[in-house]
Amino acid sequence: MAARLPSRQQLSNEELLKEEPETVFKRLFWQTKMQHFEPAPARFQCTCSREKVGGMLKMLGREEVDSVIEERGSVEVHCEFCNQCYEFDPVDVAQLFVSKGIRVSPASGH
Ligand SMILES: [Zn+2]
Repeated sequence: MAARLPSRQQLSNEELLKEEPETVFKRLFWQTKMQHFEPAPARFQCTCSREKVGGMLKMLGREEVDSVIEERGSVEVHCEFCNQCYEFDPVDVAQLFVSKGIRVSPASGH
């Protein structure tokens, strides 16, 4: 594992040679951490929305979504980034797929 040392490192070559690799690494890593430390990190803003989740459900396909509805009564989509939970009940789902096109096919009987 050959790591390139930061140019601003304060260890002399001599030090590098006599120190244990692990120690050198820790010291360099510590310095790097200090250099890149940001006191106020930008807060992550999730861009998810109910519309986007709806679009995702559309892509999944009606059959897939319907099977979840049948099983659980509603579809819950949990955003893993911001923890927001979106719930789509059968009415929501129906509207979702109706707005896509006119194809409202009744249950296909045998
Ligand atoms: Zn989100």
